[in-house]
Amino acid sequence: MTPNSPPTVSPQALGNFFDDIARVLGEDNISRTPSHGALEGIQGRKSYGDPFSTSGAHAPSGAVRPSAVEEVQEVVKLANKHKVCLWTVSRGKNLGYDLHRMNKIVEVNEEYGYAIVEPGVSFFDLYEEIQRQGLNLWPSVPAIAWGSVLGNTMDRGFGYTPNGEHSQSQCGMEVVLPDGELLRTGMGAMKDNKTFALYKGYVHSVVTKIGMHITPAPEAYATVEVSVPNEADLIPLTGTLSDLMRRSIILNSPSIANIFRIALTSQIPEVHAKLAQYMKPNSYVPYDVLEEIRTKHNWGFWKAYFSLYGSVEMLPALIQTVRRAFSTIPGVKIEWREFPGSPGHAITSAEIKEEQIPHSGIPTLAPLGIVDSRSEKGGAHIDYSPIIPPSGRELYEWYLTAKQRTIAARFDFFADFHVYPRYVVGIELVIYTLGEEARVLELCGDLLRDGAELGYMEYRTHVRYMDRIAAKLDFNDFAFGKFTGRLKDVLDPNGVLSPGKSGIWNGVSKM
Ligand SMILES: Cc1cc2nc3c(=O)[nH]c(=O)nc-3n(C[C@H](O)[C@H](O)[C@H](O)COP(=O)(O)OP(=O)(O)OC[C@H]3O[C@@H](n4cnc5c(N)ncnc54)[C@H](O)[C@@H]3O)c2cc1C
Repeated sequence: MTPNSPPTVSPQALGNFFDDIARVLGEDNISRTPSHGALEGIQGRKSYGDPFSTSGAHAPSGAVRPSAVEEVQEVVKLANKHKVCLWTVSRGKNLGYDLHRMNKIVEVNEEYGYAIVEPGVSFFDLYEEIQRQGLNLWPSVPAIAWGSVLGNTMDRGFGYTPNGEHSQSQCGMEVVLPDGELLRTGMGAMKDNKTFALYKGYVHSVVTKIGMHITPAPEAYATVEVSVPNEADLIPLTGTLSDLMRRSIILNSPSIANIFRIALTSQIPEVHAKLAQYMKPNSYVPYDVLEEIRTKHNWGFWKAYFSLYGSVEMLPALIQTVRRAFSTIPGVKIEWREFPGSPGHAITSAEIKEEQIPHSGIPTLAPLGIVDSRSEKGGAHIDYSPIIPPSGRELYEWYLTAKQRTIAARFDFFADFHVYPRYVVGIELVIYTLGEEARVLELCGDLLRDGAELGYMEYRTHVRYMDRIAAKLDFNDFAFGKFTGRLKDVLDPNGVLSPGKSGIWNGVSKM
């Protein structure tokens, strides 16, 4: 094995591995090729591998689908015996080693606001269980809710309630180590400890159970949209949002859309007809056309979406505080939908109904449609997502660079910026058709390089870019990469577990 490449496995060893696994799981629960057995993905595709790519890069040799912790332990031991590498997916919607059959909701606790789930539990499953039990809980869900609560958290995903930063809301893990041993983190290290999902701790391996904190349904609630007219208004918009978060006035992470996204996600057929003239391969919607649409509909260049959560007494004061904070931006428009509530009564999601952004935790798949907006079939998307300081100044500087790159590559800039108290995740989502893959990959390479030159790194990335991002961790002659490589050599000497995940490989420390 050389660093940055998984160990080579002979077809014979792979066959022996599958034969051994079949004796444990049954032939029905293994796939000896990547082309069958996966949960249905976008456009009905059922193969393991990336449905947004034509290259077939990173496709696994097959998959195994254990349904219990003991089976996971057995799989890991057999992987060591045959020196076969595994890559863990929970529902595989990051579109293996597939844990979707492990789909138990172990516990949902309304009093303390948490759930303990297995890898195969989707955001829909957890939401439906909460509704079935009639619990006053608003679980955090991502913009599309098909994925695994656990998989999304391991990938540093996020949702839209006050517990939306999933890696922060995670509490208590059960993991299978690379040698097959089972371990519980945090308070779970003590047998039968009662605070497993209440007090934190962390180790990364194959995670087979996870505790997640959940927001209690509030007494009073309002969804708020703040629009600002000019491109440079991104600066005060972002700065004000992050300041209100640092002061705990806004509790969930606001997302910011640009005019392209506002137009694309509007329900106005005339706007869609206009965009369709330009949204096709090798072309983008010119900014003078977007400006024409914006002024005609009196929209902002940017729009921020967030919600306010509190008691009956607090909500009017929170709304007033937010209005005052943004009133200094000329031309600002603040709209809100208010649920004033009544004392002692928790607002139910049935009262709220499905929202465009799931601030109350009602799961949806609606945003998936945007992926095909550039062509009727075969649409795809990829994100570039640097972590940037939250004043708004740094975000605007980066945005202008990235926007120019995107225009030059003939794609549209879809902004999905997420504000937190002390950073912004500046997600640029690029929609492309499969025929445009080479051009979009070149654009992603440029965005990565430009971002790094400004001093920024991504929070989460496609497997394709993990090594390139790890190669930027150059402090003290790549000390961090050498350290994680050393840990990998000790904990996973055969390199069977997720080789190259987050750019971590065996043997790096010996380079
Ligand atoms: C239009 C659109 C909008 C989206 N919006 C959002 C959004 O708002 N927020 C968001 O977060 N995402 C969003 N996504 C991304 C995506 O759909 C979800 O994040 C999805 O939850 C990821 O799939 P999964 O949970 O099935 O993860 P998986 O594919 O199962 O796992 C992801 C990764 O986590 C690791 N992992 C998984 N399981 C384990 C385990 N048991 N042990 C150890 N490691 C593990 C692996 O490295 C794996 O590659 C969006 C996607 C689209 C197309």
